[in-house]
Amino acid sequence: MNLEKQIEHYLKKLYPLNRSITGDGNRQTLKILQEIIPLKIIEYKSRSQVYDWEIPDEWNVNEAWIKNSHGEKIIDFSNNNLHLVNYSIPFSGKINFSVLKNKLHYREDIPNAIPYRTSYYNPDWGFCISYNDYINKFSMDQEYEVFIDTTLKPGSLSVGELLIHGKSNKEILISTYICHPSMANDNLSGIILTIFLAKELQKKELNFSYRFIFVPETIGAISYCANNELLIKNIDIGLVITCVGGPGKFSYKKSFCSEHELNSIVEDVFNEREIDYITYPFDIHGSDERQFSSIGFRINTITISKDKYYEYPFYHTSLDNLDFVRPEYINESLNVYLNVVEKIDKNIIYKNLQPNCESMLARHNLYPSTGGKFIPQQKLSELDIILWILFLSDGKRSLYNISKEVETKIEIVYEIAAKLEKKRLLDRSEL
Ligand code: ZN
Repeated sequence: MNLEKQIEHYLKKLYPLNRSITGDGNRQTLKILQEIIPLKIIEYKSRSQVYDWEIPDEWNVNEAWIKNSHGEKIIDFSNNNLHLVNYSIPFSGKINFSVLKNKLHYREDIPNAIPYRTSYYNPDWGFCISYNDYINKFSMDQEYEVFIDTTLKPGSLSVGELLIHGKSNKEILISTYICHPSMANDNLSGIILTIFLAKELQKKELNFSYRFIFVPETIGAISYCANNELLIKNIDIGLVITCVGGPGKFSYKKSFCSEHELNSIVEDVFNEREIDYITYPFDIHGSDERQFSSIGFRINTITISKDKYYEYPFYHTSLDNLDFVRPEYINESLNVYLNVVEKIDKNIIYKNLQPNCESMLARHNLYPSTGGKFIPQQKLSELDIILWILFLSDGKRSLYNISKEVETKIEIVYEIAAKLEKKRLLDRSEL
């Protein structure tokens, strides 16, 4: 099966599951992902303290519906899991429309869409319906039977984890969130891209190690940080993958330090692929970069999206579905992320092993045979680049930084540095 067919297969398979911040829908999602990569599933117990938060009781849904006075089910969770406000507490009873209407959520501006609502930390219940249904299926003074059979009891919060080892133990964090029920761009597309990115990286020989995590947004990321604090504190850069499957423009959200080279790497990838993109500044709103960028961790984290959250009209509604998201869009985004990771993986920090005066290049067979060699489309010759790399590799400056200094692509600088490493003129400072 080619990659787009596989993406399509998993979009269809995972789309119907009722995901939330806890519950069986998340576990089933992670188990299905284990078909693709050997994801480890970790369970964090309900009611454990994680920094300023507490992991809530586990939520599961058996059924939920509203019947009219003729006994007809007019709203049914089994038709669309967005119908029930996520984390609704159990309820059963007959109530008049004048009371029920306060429990109904709809969007007048998109009359055929069911909105997505949650009530994780405020025990409540409610239904989300299209405005069309609100107008056509309900009438004043009528009585309705409401039945919500949900369970909220101590269980656990499930997360998925995979560490792909490279030559160095230095880790890059790659995170996505698994808490959204049946919506395709936000964020099934992110889950699927992340899993196939992991699969691609597993095939490669990598310089760095890559920690993939699949967590419910906010509480899952916080739980993971609290349970892996030291390890996360050692990570400098990260990617939060979300909303990557829409028909709209590519964009990226900058990391908290806008000068960080990770931002520039993303822009290089867009430019090299001739992709027109939108740049969003860092903001304290958004996804799990909020946690990873907090004072204790300060991980520079970027997000590349294709139809970013908040920005597309179907955001957080039932119209964010499998007609809106296409496998080919996810594949396009996957290639962008893959290019970014390939550049990150080449961004090694070297130290010159002979810092006192210049090395004698002829002795190492680096001069003059290769000295006169010019590289197509680059200003500098290979000899120039060798000299610059040796001059700048002080154990602090990254190859990406050097590549910008010498106006040469990181791929070329990396190849030349690898040659110098083989000749024992350079050594990696992070190994
Ligand atoms: Zn969302």
